[in-house]
Amino acid sequence: MLLPILTDENPQLREKSVFVKEITPEIKKLIADMTETMNYGSRAVGLAAPQVGVQQRIIVCKIKNSLGKFINMALINPEIVTKSEQCELGEEGCLSIPNMFGPVMRAKDITVQFMTEDKKTVMKRFGGYNARVILHEIDHLNGILFTDLVGDKSLLYEELSY
Ligand SMILES: [Zn+2]
Repeated sequence: MLLPILTDENPQLREKSVFVKEITPEIKKLIADMTETMNYGSRAVGLAAPQVGVQQRIIVCKIKNSLGKFINMALINPEIVTKSEQCELGEEGCLSIPNMFGPVMRAKDITVQFMTEDKKTVMKRFGGYNARVILHEIDHLNGILFTDLVGDKSLLYEELSY
């Protein structure tokens, strides 16, 4: 089921999300719906639960695997364990800030601990694009939007996605 996405003026996007205590059938349904919603738009590569009005620490991402193929991934209660000091600049956009793009500095390499839908705790390393997507989505769980991280707002630009 496609979910409506909250956009930038909605104060709910500024709230801190709470940890998921138990992976219930409702949580699994939410993840399936979030994945469908993320994959509906051509340019979306991630979605966080608060963007669909659910203040819980869940994100879904399109991660590039070692073969360069995109795979859907859901991370529950993701926590950044390590972050490289080395950073890089990359273009970002957000479903909650339609048609806006801008350069954001992110760590090149991160290690994240999270729970999978089948209740396994996993520790995984992500680099480059994958690290960027996950950091962007985790920011949503803390009420942070990518535009907050663009120091020079004149670098933000508008582009129609459809
Ligand atoms: Zn976003």
